[in-house]
Amino acid sequence: MLRLLLTCEHGGNLIPPAYAPLFQGHEEVLKTHQGYDIGALELYNTLKPIADVGFYAETSRLLVELNRSLHHAKLFSAYTQVLPPTEKERLLEKHYKPYREQVEQMVSDFVSAGRRLLHVAVHTFTPMLDGEERQADIGLLYDPKRKHEQAYSKEWKAALNKADKDLLVRFNYPYLGIADGFPTYLRRKFSADEYVGIELEVNQKFPQQGGARWQEIQALLARTLQEVVLRNRALLSEHGI
Ligand SMILES: [Zn+2]
Repeated sequence: MLRLLLTCEHGGNLIPPAYAPLFQGHEEVLKTHQGYDIGALELYNTLKPIADVGFYAETSRLLVELNRSLHHAKLFSAYTQVLPPTEKERLLEKHYKPYREQVEQMVSDFVSAGRRLLHVAVHTFTPMLDGEERQADIGLLYDPKRKHEQAYSKEWKAALNKADKDLLVRFNYPYLGIADGFPTYLRRKFSADEYVGIELEVNQKFPQQGGARWQEIQALLARTLQEVVLRNRALLSEHGI
């Protein structure tokens, strides 16, 4: 049985009061793409009804980066990097580990029940970075070595383009699926048959412009993701999985 897990690591830009002094005078940056993924939580909520389970976070990525592993140099931002080691540990205990661990536990529970899990991590990306315009509407990030991830991503792209041929959908753009995201961490824990991780990246120009087009994009993503899940769920059940 195929199950769908939805997550949203960069859903909000909240800073808990205890850490507010670190951001004093830098409040504006929290409202930009550096503070959170604009539109991601709205998209997550649109996709949520088709998922079996979902987790989202509303603390800012500038507090601690939920989409990075503990060893990553950018786990803490320039604002929180200055904290002494014991304070950093406390921050991780309160605002990083609970989120990461509950998601990992859920994957583990599904997998030990003999199910295959499709994890879609919902993200958005800024249309312009360092003066360059990004050339994609939607990115699907996966590990090319994991054949189910590649196959599901191809099916999803085909379904999106069938419904809207003008939509520019690219694989492993604007980032590589094998970079240090949450799915990359989970791939090391679960086999390619058990865990299928895809990071969905949507251009923030859509939520920024808002209106009918943004609603249309969200509905399209929900419909096509559901198609992919239902088709593969049926295929797996034919094989008794
Ligand atoms: Zn993100």
